[in-house]
Amino acid sequence: MKEHPYKKSGLTVSQQDYHIARKRMVEVHLRGGGVRDERVLAAMGKVPRHLFVEEALREQAYGDYPLNIGEGQTISQPLMVAIMTEALQLAAGEKVLEVGTGSGYQTAILCELASEVYSIERIATLSHRARRILYDCGYIRFQLRIGDGSRGWPEAAPFDAIIVTAAGPALPPVLLKQLAEGGRLVMPIGTEDAQELRRVRRQQGKFPEETLGACRFVKLIGEYGWKGE
Ligand code: SAH
Repeated sequence: MKEHPYKKSGLTVSQQDYHIARKRMVEVHLRGGGVRDERVLAAMGKVPRHLFVEEALREQAYGDYPLNIGEGQTISQPLMVAIMTEALQLAAGEKVLEVGTGSGYQTAILCELASEVYSIERIATLSHRARRILYDCGYIRFQLRIGDGSRGWPEAAPFDAIIVTAAGPALPPVLLKQLAEGGRLVMPIGTEDAQELRRVRRQQGKFPEETLGACRFVKLIGEYGWKGE
């Protein structure tokens, strides 16, 4: 008798389904959406995104849209995570700061691509949940902090890359200060309803900027973001 293909891999049927859905996400939504960096594609093909969303939403985890993660916040859509990660141009051995831990999914992707990952979240319950899931997935090279990430993490600076996963009205000058020479900051800038993704590079005392396209994120709330409700 022929062995059942799912049994062969030692995975349960549903895990196998998630695996297939994840490969499809990478090929259809990410590669199909113009993402070319093979390291980013491999990281997103590896991290189990379905574990970072609520159980009721797991089956939707590999669709190309944002999902609610509670507290009025969202896990970004896969293509946006890939575009932002690609824009960071991370090399192995680098140190990265994330502002807006949220579900911890982007944090996991960063753990796959950098050596040291720092991430700040203002909502304690989200940070605690993210920590648990990241540990469950086997990630250990990260540090989480609860607080206002718009001010950065001065004690751990300088960073080779900074990613802000919530939108602000302007680039926070303190974050630019925490970039290493040659470091990149990627952040959505605009109004509460419409933003564009910006990349800034620290280059010999200058901060040249590029615009990478339109996007829509939840609000960065803090000293260098919007005032809290
Ligand atoms: N990277 C996350 C995206 C979460 S949405 C993921 O992969 O799931 C953005 C997050 O930024 C929200 O959780 C929100 O609470 C958080 N946030 C907003 N303003 C912040 C601030 N000033 N400091 C830290 N986190 C902030």
